[in-house]
Amino acid sequence: MRAQFLIPQHDGADQAYFVGNSLGLQPRGARRHVEEVLDKWAAEAVEGHFTGDAQWMAYHQLVRESLARLVGAKPIEVVAMNTLTVNLHLMMVSFYRPTRERPAILIEAGAFPSDRHAVASQIGFHGFDPATDLIELEADEADGTISMGAIERAIAEHGPRLALVLWPGVQYRTGQAFDLAAIARLAHAQGAVCGFDLAHGVGNLELALHDSGVDFAVWCHYKYLNSGPGAVAGCFVHERHASSDRPRFAGWWGHEADTRFRMGPQFVPTPGAEGWQLSNPPILGLAPLRASLELYDQAGMPALRAKSLQITGYLEALIRLRLADTLQVVTPSQPERRGCQLSLRVVGGRERGRALFEYLASNGVLGDWREPDVIRISPAPLYNRYADVLRFVRTTEAWRDLG
Ligand SMILES: *Cc1c(COP(=O)(O)O)cnc(C)c1O
Repeated sequence: MRAQFLIPQHDGADQAYFVGNSLGLQPRGARRHVEEVLDKWAAEAVEGHFTGDAQWMAYHQLVRESLARLVGAKPIEVVAMNTLTVNLHLMMVSFYRPTRERPAILIEAGAFPSDRHAVASQIGFHGFDPATDLIELEADEADGTISMGAIERAIAEHGPRLALVLWPGVQYRTGQAFDLAAIARLAHAQGAVCGFDLAHGVGNLELALHDSGVDFAVWCHYKYLNSGPGAVAGCFVHERHASSDRPRFAGWWGHEADTRFRMGPQFVPTPGAEGWQLSNPPILGLAPLRASLELYDQAGMPALRAKSLQITGYLEALIRLRLADTLQVVTPSQPERRGCQLSLRVVGGRERGRALFEYLASNGVLGDWREPDVIRISPAPLYNRYADVLRFVRTTEAWRDLG
């Protein structure tokens, strides 16, 4: 699969690129799909909406089956649209319905800022106060991760006040993965709605969204999904809400497809996740996602996860064997509690951490830096090699030995 990607170069050789958790590499097929749209636009203009297998009118449906496979959903439960934070707001418009008795949202402390801004602003929008109604669960384990026991206790303690539990599939800073089905069950048992942010989970973990029973989920496609900067995002709405009469922010592309072009004044939603679409989609933005999903379909998540467990396990083993004096692994070591990313804290503090990070980059080994003191290294099973991992370890050793 590595041959299907364009690998950035450093000093005439492939970079060791470990930043697929931030921006995945470009699949070779992306350009072809984008050019196909440009060519169709040039040759056919408005007729492009109606002609050929990749007609724009139904373009979002070209990715639907693959997306459903990827996240363990039924096709009616998924749609590619907008961007992650927009989808999170649209989902909360429908699924966060606070009352005086039950106004609160539970998230993890240290959540990705956009998620925190989204939930805090939704709480305020409904006239409630984030100071009391945004509950942020602190890490309870020594390495800065959150135990399942702590999640259980928080949901039980705040249960009657919880309108929504919003949880990450993989926490972006620590790399911790969670038992999502258990979290959905606990939230529902307290009468709360449950949603997932799968920005770091999709294309990384084997997901079973339908079976988890979660009400909604959102994710982006530019990280492990390799669909390009600002790529069109994904959204899941559980089948039991397919014909929901919950309030929603509506737009014409969410209107029933068969009657959309009668241009009537009455909104009749398409059943399922597609009913939350607003606008006709950016076709050029969706084109690279097709290329990416073709690769995921070829490889299959079970095989990718199997390689991911091995290559991340290899990285962890080498760090423990050879770099225990230099790097502390923040991410849980049980494979079921993480995806491919390891978050590493450099012994000696922030300045030393920055120095190592910059040394690695200047030697063609690219991780990413998260304030205050974490280097994230994410071997992506689609294109990273064991040799990349070894190169990271050897380059770090060389830096350490320089003093
Ligand atoms: C990457 C990421 C985002 C980014 O949001 P966009 O709307 O795509 O800019 C949001 N939340 C989490 C948890 C992320 O990891």
